[in-house]
Amino acid sequence: MTVDHFGSTTAKPTEEKTAMTELKLVEKDGRRWPCTLCGGETDREAITCGTDDRSIIACPDCLKNAATIDDRIERRAARLEGIASDLRTLKGQVTLPTFEAWQNANKAFDACEQEGRR
Ligand SMILES: [Zn+2]
Repeated sequence: MTVDHFGSTTAKPTEEKTAMTELKLVEKDGRRWPCTLCGGETDREAITCGTDDRSIIACPDCLKNAATIDDRIERRAARLEGIASDLRTLKGQVTLPTFEAWQNANKAFDACEQEGRR
């Protein structure tokens, strides 16, 4: 692999490809999980598609559209790059209430809730 002066990387044709990432049918806990590949969600079924360690999960739509999986991955990657770019514009531009103000507001809310139940 080479890195050009713009920071882009290109694989040399003679360079060996990285190992394939094999997704299998795996058991899960019946909750919805975000799809790593397209950004969608899994269904609540007991079996989903993913890596053994569940670090990569694929939703049923990705399974249905396996022939175009690289396009789906690229669209998601482009969306994430846009999100990252938008997020960086917030650097130095964000003001937040203090953590203590948040805690106090929650305590006041809880106190009102308790008062309302009496
Ligand atoms: Zn998906």
